[in-house]
Amino acid sequence: MTDLPRVTYSNTQQDFSGVHARLDTMIPHVEQMLGRQVSNRAGGADLPDEGAYTVTSPIDDRIVLGVASAASPVTIDTAVVAAHDAQSAWSRMPWRERVTILERVAIELERRKWELGVAALFEVGKSRMEAMGEVEEAIDLVRYYCAQMVEREGFRAPQKRAFPVESTEVVLRPHGVFAVIAPFNYPIALSTSMITGALLGGNTVVFKPSPGAALTGRMLVDAFDAAGVPAGVVNLVCGGAATGRALANHPRVNGIVFTGSHQVGMLLMRERAMDAHVKPVIAEMGGKNPAYVCASANLDDAVEGVARSAYGLQGQKCSCESRVFVHASIFEDFIERLAARAARMPIGDPRLRDTFIGPLINATAFQRYEEAVFEAGRDGNVRMGGQRLMRDGLDHGFYVEPVLVTDLPAGHRLHTEELFAPLLTAHSFAKLDDALTEGNAVNYGLTAGIYTSDEQELERFLEGAHAGVLYANRASGATTGAWPGIQTFCGWKGSGTTGKGGLGPHYLPQFMREQSRTVVAPGARQA
Ligand code: NAD
Repeated sequence: MTDLPRVTYSNTQQDFSGVHARLDTMIPHVEQMLGRQVSNRAGGADLPDEGAYTVTSPIDDRIVLGVASAASPVTIDTAVVAAHDAQSAWSRMPWRERVTILERVAIELERRKWELGVAALFEVGKSRMEAMGEVEEAIDLVRYYCAQMVEREGFRAPQKRAFPVESTEVVLRPHGVFAVIAPFNYPIALSTSMITGALLGGNTVVFKPSPGAALTGRMLVDAFDAAGVPAGVVNLVCGGAATGRALANHPRVNGIVFTGSHQVGMLLMRERAMDAHVKPVIAEMGGKNPAYVCASANLDDAVEGVARSAYGLQGQKCSCESRVFVHASIFEDFIERLAARAARMPIGDPRLRDTFIGPLINATAFQRYEEAVFEAGRDGNVRMGGQRLMRDGLDHGFYVEPVLVTDLPAGHRLHTEELFAPLLTAHSFAKLDDALTEGNAVNYGLTAGIYTSDEQELERFLEGAHAGVLYANRASGATTGAWPGIQTFCGWKGSGTTGKGGLGPHYLPQFMREQSRTVVAPGARQA
C-alpha cells in the first residue's frame, strides 16, 4: 500500500481508487476504537481525569469520539511546570539532535496517517480527501521545518570581525515555554505546525487543542512521544476558552502561538500588552477572501476553482473564498455555471467516498449560517441553496446546502465579516481596479485569487491585492490549497499578527529571540 498516491489539496485529478479502498477498511476500523477516555498529559504521564466532557462527531451526534478532561487550573499549572522543567535540557540539546528527533516525528505521523486522517474525518466532518490531505500536509511540514533548520545551520550566523582576536556570532535562542492553542478545522496540520515550530526553536510546549479535537490532540501527542521527544517537552491540556485563557495567562508561559478567530487572537494580544514585558504572540487568524474573474478568464477553470474554494470543507477553511467579483460581461453566465457546478457537489456523510460537502461543525455554526441566509434573502438575492438537509439520518448533523448570493448592497455585513459557512457573495465589476479596492476593503487579508489571461490584469492583481497568499488561474482552488515549502501562509491586517507565515522560510525564527555573542579568544587581548 506504500505506493498509493499522496493526497494533497491540489492534485484533484489523480486516481485515488487505491486510497479509497484503504479508507473503506480504515473507517470502520477507527470507528470501532472511538469513545475512549482522552487524558491530559504532563511530564510524560497521564494526569488524573477531571471535568469530563463528551465529544461527539459532527457527522452524527450519536457517534461518541471520546470523553475528554477539561483541564483545571491545577492541571494547567502541572503541565506548564513540566514544560518549564524540561525546557533547559531540551534547549541545551544540540540543534541537530532536535532535528533528528523531529524527523522521527514525521516518520511516526506517516506510520499513523490512516488512523489520524480518519480521526480528523470523524472529528471535523472532513471529506476523505480533505482529511488525508491534512495528514500529508502535517508530515511534509515537519520535514520542511527540519530542512529549514539544517539549511539555516540552526540559525547561528558568524558575523564580521572587528578585531582579529575577537569573533562574533548571532544566534537565535528559545523563549522558554510556548502555549500552543489550536482551532477546530485543521486539528492535525496546524497543531503539528505550531508544536514543531516551537520545539525546533528549543522551546517546550503546552498544547491545547480545540475542545472538540481532544481525540486527534491526544493522538498527536502520542506520536511525538513515540518518536522519542523527551518527557515534558510536549504536554497536553484539553478544554475550551477557559482552559485556553488560563494557559495563555500562566506566568511561566513565555510565548503564545495561536491559530483561530480574529476575536480570540486579538484578545490574546490585548491581554499580553498588560504583562510586565511583552511575550511573543504568533497569531494566525480568520479571512474574508475574494476571487476576481475577468472577462478574459478560462471560465471552466474559474467555475471549478471558485466552487471548490467557496464550498470545500463546508466553507470552514480560513482560506475559503467568500466573495467573488465577476466582470459584468460574463456575470450572468458565470453565476449560472457556478450554481450548476455547486449543485453537483455531493453533500452528505463524509465517510462515503463521493461526498464533497460534509456537515457544519456544530449548532453555533448552523445558527450563523441560518442568520446569514436570512439576511441574504432580506437584503439581496439568494440564487442557490440555503436549506438544511434532513434526509437519510442527516438530521443528526448540520448538513446544509451551499449558498450563492447576488445583489447585496456595498458594505453589507455579509461582505465584510467572516462567516465560516458555505456562503459566497457575488458582485459584478466593470473595472478590475474598482473590484480590487472593494475586495481589499475588509479587516482581513489572508488569501485572494484571480482568473485572467491578461498579463496586465494579472500584474495589477499581484501588486494590488492586500493579502498574504495569492493564486492565479488555479482550477483546484481559487483561494485555497497552500502546501509546505511551496506556498507560505501569512495573514495580513486582521488575519495575522507577525507579517510572517506558516509553511515557509520565515516561520521558525518567530519562535526564537536573537542573541549576539562577541568573544575575545581566551588568553588573547584586544589590540
Ligand atoms: P476560535 O478562535 O473559536 O478557537 C481557537 C482556539 O482558541 C480554541 O482552542 C479555543 O478553545 C481557544 N480559545 C477560545 N477563547 C479563548 C480565550 N479567551 N483564550 C485562549 N484561548 C481561547 O476558532 P475556531 O472556531 O476553533 O477556528 C476557526 C477560526 O480559525 C476561523 O476564524 C478561521 O479563519 C481561523 N483559522 C485561521 C487559520 C490561519 O492559518 N490563519 C487557519 C485555520 C483557522
